[in-house]
Amino acid sequence: MTLTSLRQQLLAGDTTPAAILEKLAADITTRDHGQTGAYLSYDLQSALAEAATADLSLPLGGIPIAIKDNINVLGQPCTCGSKFLENFISPYDATVIRKLRAAGAIPFGRMNMDEFAMGSATENSALQITRNPRDPARIPGGSSGGSAAAVADLTAIAALGSDTGGSIRQPASHCGVVGLKPSYGRVSRYGLVAFASSLDQIGPLTQTVEDAALLLQAISGNDPLDSTCLDAPVPDFLSGLHDGVKGLKLGIPKEYFGEGIHPGVRKNVEAAIQHLAAQGAEIVEISLPHTEHAVATYYVIAPAEASSNLSRFDGIRYGHRAAQPSDILDLYKKSREEGFGPEVKRRIILGTYVLSSGYYDAYYSRAQKVRTLIRRDFETAFQQVDAILSPVAPTPARKIGSISGDPLQEYLSDIFTLAANLAGIPGISIPCGHTDYDGGSQLPVGLQILAPHLGEAKLLQIAKVAEGFDGGE
Ligand code: GLN
Repeated sequence: MTLTSLRQQLLAGDTTPAAILEKLAADITTRDHGQTGAYLSYDLQSALAEAATADLSLPLGGIPIAIKDNINVLGQPCTCGSKFLENFISPYDATVIRKLRAAGAIPFGRMNMDEFAMGSATENSALQITRNPRDPARIPGGSSGGSAAAVADLTAIAALGSDTGGSIRQPASHCGVVGLKPSYGRVSRYGLVAFASSLDQIGPLTQTVEDAALLLQAISGNDPLDSTCLDAPVPDFLSGLHDGVKGLKLGIPKEYFGEGIHPGVRKNVEAAIQHLAAQGAEIVEISLPHTEHAVATYYVIAPAEASSNLSRFDGIRYGHRAAQPSDILDLYKKSREEGFGPEVKRRIILGTYVLSSGYYDAYYSRAQKVRTLIRRDFETAFQQVDAILSPVAPTPARKIGSISGDPLQEYLSDIFTLAANLAGIPGISIPCGHTDYDGGSQLPVGLQILAPHLGEAKLLQIAKVAEGFDGGE
């Protein structure tokens, strides 16, 4: 059921796009509804209509791709996991959707997420709970939790997510699938509902590294509709996939292996590093000295941008509108009060605060300076090494509800993923083993690989060697 294998089956005439869709719909009914809860909605009839005219000669011809619910698909809901947009229907296709269609794919399914992509557990969705298919008592991670859970549950073949501070890589790690955040500017953000515009990127969640390469190939490239999307050549991400790691230098940042990492995570990530060394990579210890400031920097910049981006949800243009307001100000207030959940309100308040005149220099402008230092840390490191290896998250997936009400603890768990967004570099999460965590079942652990800006081909090449390695329990 991978993209690669379905492509072969379709070309050989062993299956049809309609049969694939019917099978997914049946599996969603038995496994997702009332259980995993990854799908917010899907439209089988319109997908079947597209399947009827699918061009199987195209790279993703006739293959359904699940879409995070903050990426606009014409005529479909785009709730962003929020009550505010519960009844919103997209009037246009995001650029990634146009590109997917041009590659022959069929967007199928709207995947649950933390409200406006703010969170790391999908528990901030205002619409439903999503469970981790590896252990239903646990979170799938977030904010692209629905996308990751469906790929892990095999109710989706592959999915798109978005990553502002780890939202593709961390759920991929928690669910045991592959998740890739492209370089800033590699993929158009046009039609992605903006959270923090200088950090957001759309990327693939897949079962294999090869599938991630295929999907990234389809969505990459310049877009006149997004001025931050780069006019840089898009390499063939598949051609060097089997080139191995012999002679590559891989950096291990000492700041990423300090206190607070679960021993099972450390053990598996270290075993994966040894595996890459055994395949011919040279392992080098490096330093990213400003790592300790990444969480604070991100949690100033991301809320600042969010407070500005979310000001468009005012109850007038679209989305939720409060009933019987006393005047226009009351309409704004009540609509936003009723429409947004607690985490979104917290971010708007934080963001407005750090941008307000008395505090702008102390917080926002200082955070921008520290962001530059963090980016320079990576530039210096990449003069020494080809890529960097680390854990994706300090712990495996926690239990649902286990730290709700403690936002700071939640923010701290983003420590290993945020810096890549602040620096604009690409990162991938790939499964590297299992461990137990606070009782119960064996849970997946992810290895993170980071590469220089626009270095996705190298990233995928290294990930291909790490793929299939299991550091054990
Ligand atoms: N967990 C981070 C946050 O809550 C990152 C979310 C994301 O990447 N969208 O902001």
